[in-house]
Amino acid sequence: MSEPVHSTCPYCGVGCGVVAERTDDGQFSIRGDPQHPANYGRLCSKGAALADTLGLQQRLLYPEIMGHRVSWQQAITTVADSLQSIISEHGPDAVAFYVSGQLLTEEYYVANKLIKGFIGTANIDTNSRLCMASSVAGQRRAFGADTVPGCYEDLERAKLVVLAGSNLAWCHPVLFQRLTAAKAANPDLMIVVIDPRRTTTAEVADLHLALRPGSDGWLFNGLLAFLDDAGERHPSFVSRCVDGVSEALQAARQTAPDITTVAALCDLPAAQVENFYRLFARTERVVTVYSQGINQSSSGTDKVNAIINCHLYTGRIGRPGMGPFSVTGQPNAMGGREAGGLANQLAAHMELENPLHRDWVQEFWQAPRLAQRPGLKAVELFQAIEAGTVKAVWIMATNPLVSMPDALQVQRALARAELVVVSDCVSETDTLRYAHVRLPALAWGEKDGTVTNSERRISRQRAFLTAPGEARADWQIISDVASAMGFGTSFDYQSPLEIFREHAALSGYHNNGERDFNLTGLAALSSDDYQGLVPVQWPVIKDQGRSRMFDDERFFTPNGRARMIAIQPRAPVMQPNAEFPLRLNTGRVRDHWHTMTRTARAPQLNQHLIEPYLAIHPDDGAAFGVVDGELVTVASRLAEIIVRVCFDAGQRHGEVFIPMHWNDQYSGQARVDTLIAAATDPVSGQPELKHMPVRIYSYRPLWQAVIVSRHRLELPVTDYWTLVPGDQVLRYELAGRQRPDSWSRWAETVLGVTANDDWIEYEDRRLGYFRGALCSDQSLKAYIIAGPDVGAVSRGWLQQLSLQSALSAQDRVGLLAGRPLGPVVDHGRIVCACFGVGETVILDAISHHNCRSVEDISRHTRAGSNCGACKPELSALLSRASALM
Ligand code: SF4
Repeated sequence: MSEPVHSTCPYCGVGCGVVAERTDDGQFSIRGDPQHPANYGRLCSKGAALADTLGLQQRLLYPEIMGHRVSWQQAITTVADSLQSIISEHGPDAVAFYVSGQLLTEEYYVANKLIKGFIGTANIDTNSRLCMASSVAGQRRAFGADTVPGCYEDLERAKLVVLAGSNLAWCHPVLFQRLTAAKAANPDLMIVVIDPRRTTTAEVADLHLALRPGSDGWLFNGLLAFLDDAGERHPSFVSRCVDGVSEALQAARQTAPDITTVAALCDLPAAQVENFYRLFARTERVVTVYSQGINQSSSGTDKVNAIINCHLYTGRIGRPGMGPFSVTGQPNAMGGREAGGLANQLAAHMELENPLHRDWVQEFWQAPRLAQRPGLKAVELFQAIEAGTVKAVWIMATNPLVSMPDALQVQRALARAELVVVSDCVSETDTLRYAHVRLPALAWGEKDGTVTNSERRISRQRAFLTAPGEARADWQIISDVASAMGFGTSFDYQSPLEIFREHAALSGYHNNGERDFNLTGLAALSSDDYQGLVPVQWPVIKDQGRSRMFDDERFFTPNGRARMIAIQPRAPVMQPNAEFPLRLNTGRVRDHWHTMTRTARAPQLNQHLIEPYLAIHPDDGAAFGVVDGELVTVASRLAEIIVRVCFDAGQRHGEVFIPMHWNDQYSGQARVDTLIAAATDPVSGQPELKHMPVRIYSYRPLWQAVIVSRHRLELPVTDYWTLVPGDQVLRYELAGRQRPDSWSRWAETVLGVTANDDWIEYEDRRLGYFRGALCSDQSLKAYIIAGPDVGAVSRGWLQQLSLQSALSAQDRVGLLAGRPLGPVVDHGRIVCACFGVGETVILDAISHHNCRSVEDISRHTRAGSNCGACKPELSALLSRASALM
């Protein structure tokens, strides 16, 4: 066995440390790094499944131009020449980069340097714009810099943790584990969840405020007014450190004068609002964690400042166990911000609007033409591509055709662009379909560099796999293009270490403490130092990091004082109306990441929530005439999708939720962001991804089908299909309104049956059912069952048969009958992804094995005993089953 390699999980902003080790069979195992301060050995279901995502299936391994394999030299020359020619004809603003929080900091740095310093435009934006731009803008307004004040330990040292717009249990699971462990150790730790939905996170809350979506600004303005009335101003801190107090208080009093008004505006019981306010007022150690529910809003920046105002006014910042705390969705959203990945920032937290900063960066880079003004933010960028003002875009490590709002507009934009270059590690994404040039990049496990997590902690991602095919590091690809454009001497990097040292040196350039981001202490790392770099929180001015900012009461504004901002709360831009009466919220699920390019490769991560779905309150379901489990069409004024209905009593009336992950690779018509209008926050440019009016109506198929297959299939056009990759078997769920003329011919075409195959079939013409099984060497290669309703077909049985080495005669008869003829073990929907424990097994443990607590269930079934992400669900199943006993 080779030496273990310490690296960082590539999924969310918690930034957990992992250890990769080669196993005896030559594969790799991944476990949590017990020494990493973000997770101390813990992992969530996604991190725990990383080893299953390392294979080379669907990898982009060779450069391609217009679908044809080419040499790297051809690809690089084509990209460089095409960019040069567009720049010569139309100027530098005619080209753009759209990058990603998946990039390492070194990759971000080089991309930003090329476009802002050498091409001479700031038209580079990152998909972090979609997740935390409002936090950046809010922090810059309040603190003078994009500074996250605290650290994860503050959640454990707090007496009150407020989770605003954050489903921490699913989106930052290891942080949630740390919080619940802290609460178990200290039951006095109070948790308040502010979220229109009753999510898994809310299950652990002492108080859940299911407020009207978008009303957070009024809630926190009301809190500020209440804190003032309650005498909670921190007079000495405020007088020493805070400006803008009277204006902020005046705005708070005008807009949220008393609890009754706030309760009405937020659609909450007044007693709940008062409880929250009193709890906040009487608790000194308060951390307010906020995430996409706050940020993804047309008034996201104001909401961020409304939260920060309360902490500044009470002096609850810069000390252990207190402070506002933005948690990021992307693994390296923070690193991107540090390297200048946003269109309105320079590198090293310097500002594009500041002429001095522009001079310093230009001088440091010896750059020929530094961008002089902010570039186009993500939404504006794709609009400019469609309008034809931006003619070339280079997309790196992301999938905007799925993740951007008004995704059909993005599709039109890419179809219109003169040049679309996509660098990615995977070969099939919705975006890649529009690429003229495809550049194969290294994937996680092959890359080397650094990332920064939500608590400013820089960790190494280290390679433990060799580069496959001709894939190259992103920094190398960008540097090669820069060289081919004639900028070789400034991009002559031989390693990520050289880039990191330059990045660190720039952070200290003309930085006498006025700028928060400073890595001077890391600017001279040797190769061994970089290789052995342990996780450290910036700033690192000498050799030590800093866990908490503002403990010295010094902010990064010109006068060194923080700013409270007068907030005038606003409702979301789009409001439900008679035509579109429901409000659509979007977000993530527990076991998937972004657009599923990686998580869908781990079979166990596909079994928790198997299909794109719409969560709706059962009363609303009844009112809109839809039934739990059926397919439904969801329409906005922009588009329509089809998803499965899932009744969820945790939804507020009038609101529905659809996950963001599913896309054209995994479902026929489920890209939820096609529904969403591109309304943005005027300060941050972040899109409002959580407030789109929609209507729903039953999609009544005439036929449905389940197909299991060992191979990926080319499906004919159908209204609905979804792919559920399982353990060695792919399962498709299909539905349509046009019946094939001949089921037999249709099935044979879809499954690729030839005359020599062992193919058996049965059709019940009276009831309209068809079953066909394709066998090979006695085992099941593919199977289809189609008919008016296939809901009762045991998917577990089909999976089991697909994995059997040989089918018995009874199995074959069962396949033709569409049901098992003997006993079969169907574990039901998977609840615990780590150990593959299904709902049926858990319910059986409760009913027949006297399991009366989550711990009992864990002991009996192992569910919840690894990452613990499913524990709230175990608790819910326990309550449900107990109610029936
Ligand atoms: Fe990865 Fe999960 Fe940790 Fe996020 S919480 S970094 S997804 S292991």
